[in-house]
Amino acid sequence: MIGPFSYAGSPAQIVFGTGSKNKLAEWIANAGCKRALVLSTPHQRADAEALARDIGPLACGVFAGAVMHTPVDVTEAAMKVVAETRADCVVSLGGGSTTGLGKAIAYRTDLPQIVVPTTYAGSEVTPILGQTEGGRKTTVRDARILPEIVIYDPALTLGLPVSMSVTSGLNAMAHAVEGLYARDRNPISTLMALEGLRAFSRSLPVIVERPDDAGARNEALYGAWLCGTVLGTVGMALHHKICHTLGGSFETPHAETHAVMLPHTAAFNAKAAASELATAADIFGGSIGGGLWDFAKTIGAPLSLKEFGLSQADLDRAASIAVENPYWNPRPIDRDSIRALLQEAWEGRRPVD
Ligand code: NAD
Repeated sequence: MIGPFSYAGSPAQIVFGTGSKNKLAEWIANAGCKRALVLSTPHQRADAEALARDIGPLACGVFAGAVMHTPVDVTEAAMKVVAETRADCVVSLGGGSTTGLGKAIAYRTDLPQIVVPTTYAGSEVTPILGQTEGGRKTTVRDARILPEIVIYDPALTLGLPVSMSVTSGLNAMAHAVEGLYARDRNPISTLMALEGLRAFSRSLPVIVERPDDAGARNEALYGAWLCGTVLGTVGMALHHKICHTLGGSFETPHAETHAVMLPHTAAFNAKAAASELATAADIFGGSIGGGLWDFAKTIGAPLSLKEFGLSQADLDRAASIAVENPYWNPRPIDRDSIRALLQEAWEGRRPVD
């Protein structure tokens, strides 16, 4: 039975296709802008400088200081450059960290953002910004944060290392899995989630074998758009809460944490959301938790929290934090069940749905 549901399409302009990076100047002009500040991490500085050269007089500078978790002091340093260069838009070239900096600037200035993603994290299509200050992470959701234009050029992902492709892909897939049982899901978010999972189920194994396979890179980035859009549209549940807890309080690596936790949180919710997860379970061989674990193992993803140096005492504390202010979840949670779930993920055992 369909519904009841409410649905609003995203206003973001999506431009997809190999070579679409070459249309950046056109899209800056379409947005009515003349002075773009190009953002990146230090690691991608050379790529950002090359992109700035490509757009010639439309570039007013490069700020290559983006880092993970959008620290407020980095945003403040970037804001000075925005003022000095009189930028009238930002171009974020990179993964979720660079997109986060562009969002933080747009949140403070309402400057238009054009994002050119190079990972599968999905942040570029969400109105959500996570920032850190004094060791605390806060999350804001605001219309100013949603990037106006996203240019997906699969050619830019050809060099994304295989290990990052795998974990970033599983990070995106986690948005889709949680979107399937979201209370505020709608028929379009469900279609996008399933199509995104199919895209990654086909493309990631090929990327592991042949990282420069243009067709697989194309399909994976398509999956990233779909899964990211689900994240930007509907509410997330236990999986995202646990990953935010582990990343926020224990500094575990972002995409890798999602990769390890996804099979376990999916198995945890498998019975409570059996009908919502049925088609996704079919994509992964009939069982959602076990199937996702087998898939993750095949593509060489990290499988245990132990690998991140977490101790048993850390799991005790993480379980307590994860049940404070919990997100809605299809299966009711309590501290003991979350502690047991974390133990399974720490040991890296194949979950039983
Ligand atoms: P990232 O942006 O931190 O990138 C990791 C490293 O890989 C960086 O050094 C980056 O420069 C490099 N890199 C990126 N693309 C590359 C490529 N094609 N080739 C070679 N190197 C490349 O990683 P991420 O996983 O994309 O982003 C993680 C961050 O995004 C976290 O802070 C997370 O909280 C945030 N995030 C936010 C949302 C949201 O909706 N707000 C969604 C997903 C992730």
